[in-house]
Amino acid sequence: MSSQKGNSSRSRPQKYKNRTAFKNNLHDTSNKTKMINALQIGDVCQRCKDIIEWKIKYKKYKPLTQPKKCVKCGNKAVKRAYNIMCLECAHKLAVCAKCGQSKDLVEQLPNEQEKIKLDEEMKALLKSLPERKRRTFIRYMNKKEENPEIDENSQKTDILDKLKSLKINDNDDEFDGLFSDESDFDGSCSDED
Ligand SMILES: [Zn+2]
Ligand SMILES: [Zn+2]
Repeated sequence: MSSQKGNSSRSRPQKYKNRTAFKNNLHDTSNKTKMINALQIGDVCQRCKDIIEWKIKYKKYKPLTQPKKCVKCGNKAVKRAYNIMCLECAHKLAVCAKCGQSKDLVEQLPNEQEKIKLDEEMKALLKSLPERKRRTFIRYMNKKEENPEIDENSQKTDILDKLKSLKINDNDDEFDGLFSDESDFDGSCSDED
């Protein structure tokens, strides 16, 4: 019985168990610890992300005091601890900035607040547009979605800019002509028969 491997249906409970999760800021509330805890780990593979997060959690993480030399371009441009190459090289080569291998890369999550802000701004602008412009915009957005190679956040900024330009050109009917596919959509003028 004792030689049995990987018995997943063990009936005996685990003998030693932490009653509370490990807290790395229990006795240390310094700004450095706060800063390290707030780090978003990205541009690395899942395995390296786990390693770095483990270091952060158990206070083994040592931030760089000055930029390190990148193994690819040779510039002193590595700003994140444990990374071997600068972000520019990692992005260019589409590899993990820590181990240098292209594996399941973890994407840097866009700042959550930034996202919410953009969404709200967009909604408010959309509401303020007249119906006709709104439809123009929705069409523009649908077109955008057909371009998956553009990352979501820059797409949103782009869309927001478009919205703003629509808003500015609120009273300018000629503006609609800028959209190439306006022909099938002439609203109220179509009922002349
Ligand atoms: Zn580099
Ligand atoms: Zn890696």
